[in-house]
Amino acid sequence: MAGIAIIGGGVIGCATAAWLAADGHEVTAYERRPEDRYASAGNAGMLAFPEITPLARPGVLTSVPRWLMDPLGPLALRWRDLPALTPWLLRFLAAARAEQVERSTAALGGLMRSALDDHQELARRAGLSGHLRQTGAIDLYDTEASFRAALPEWELRRRLGGHNFEPLTPDQARALVPDLAGGFARAVLCRAYWMVDSPLGVLQGLRRGLGDRLVAGTVAAVEPGADGVSVRLADGTARTFDKVVVAAGVWSREIVRGLGLKVTLETERGYNTTIPEAPVRLPMPVVFADHGFVASPLSDGLRIGGAVELAAVDAPANLARARALRRKARRYLPAIQETGGTEWMGRRPSTPDSLPVIGPHPHDRRIVFAFGHGHLGLTLSATTARLAAGLLSGTPAPAPFGIERFQ
Ligand SMILES: Cc1cc2nc3c(=O)[nH]c(=O)nc-3n(C[C@H](O)[C@H](O)[C@H](O)COP(=O)(O)OP(=O)(O)OC[C@H]3O[C@@H](n4cnc5c(N)ncnc54)[C@H](O)[C@@H]3O)c2cc1C
Repeated sequence: MAGIAIIGGGVIGCATAAWLAADGHEVTAYERRPEDRYASAGNAGMLAFPEITPLARPGVLTSVPRWLMDPLGPLALRWRDLPALTPWLLRFLAAARAEQVERSTAALGGLMRSALDDHQELARRAGLSGHLRQTGAIDLYDTEASFRAALPEWELRRRLGGHNFEPLTPDQARALVPDLAGGFARAVLCRAYWMVDSPLGVLQGLRRGLGDRLVAGTVAAVEPGADGVSVRLADGTARTFDKVVVAAGVWSREIVRGLGLKVTLETERGYNTTIPEAPVRLPMPVVFADHGFVASPLSDGLRIGGAVELAAVDAPANLARARALRRKARRYLPAIQETGGTEWMGRRPSTPDSLPVIGPHPHDRRIVFAFGHGHLGLTLSATTARLAAGLLSGTPAPAPFGIERFQ
């Protein structure tokens, strides 16, 4: 029995490998750089079950010109990468049509419905415990106008995701999060958010469970053949498997292209700073909704960051963005130190319609794709693992997530 290869040892690849291993499959997960801290290791740690609206939507598009004026604002574009990013941006614009937003929201809402149960099942299968907690999250709005502008999105989340939200005054918000200072006009509490204690801890836990089934190696190509699917490594060696799951984050696109398929996948890069000894205690993540970032309390410390930078995958990090977000956070949480902590940049593997790619190769069901989770890879990791395992045993995936939409 040649088993199943998983390409990529981020949270999607490791969750899928752990799920399959618990089903009794012989798995081999390939990870190119086990020591590097990619998106799965440094994210905000939120299980954002209510976040079912795609990034491309009319309200976002109208804010884009204003955001782009501020090079350290919530959305930045590295202009020299514009030609390479244009196909993604054109599809992003097309995805902001009202009927597509409704379709994508319903599709993500469908995925999210089982996401918490899937996390609990993954934890059981991978032997993890005590890392999940329901915290809720609070979104702050600087002005009454920005609060009003956000309400339709909350309504859509309620209608298509079933998650209630509670509008709050600043005093009500401070009663929940006493460290919050002024600077905001309204807030929204949504109790349906959960958190992990540490994204890195979860990744390491999954990897530990895989043991020597997680192999250091760079996959150069996936080559289907009559006797199986060959996984060729950059060092020239190759091994043949019964089936392969491509879960290599944004780098999946090279493997997809090698298989003769197309995908529109770029990185939305995000920045943060983790402060181990922050003198504020947040009982839940605080989202600075007008600025596109969050402060989340993790066992690693207080992590402040987010925002979106559209840039080539290998463009150098601009850590001034992490510092700008921290400065903004100090307006609301003034006790946070001005310096210290660890600055980081991570690459969200993002499709223009905010829907992940979860589905089989259209002409070879031995190959399954599981990538492109954008802002929601941690949240949807366990659900993706369950769906990928189902696909390998012949269960059809929900249609909107197939790679066919890019062909
Ligand atoms: C600032 C920030 C905050 C975020 N906050 C949240 C959050 O709160 N909640 C949430 O749900 N999501 C969040 N995300 C998104 C989430 O982190 C990602 O969606 C998720 O980590 C993607 O996981 P992945 O496994 O697909 O990709 P990655 O983490 O990028 O992993 C892909 C892996 O594949 C390996 N690889 C690539 N090519 C090859 C190859 N050829 N051979 C072998 N290995 C290969 C890479 O080395 C890498 O380890 C955040 C992201 C950022 C940047």
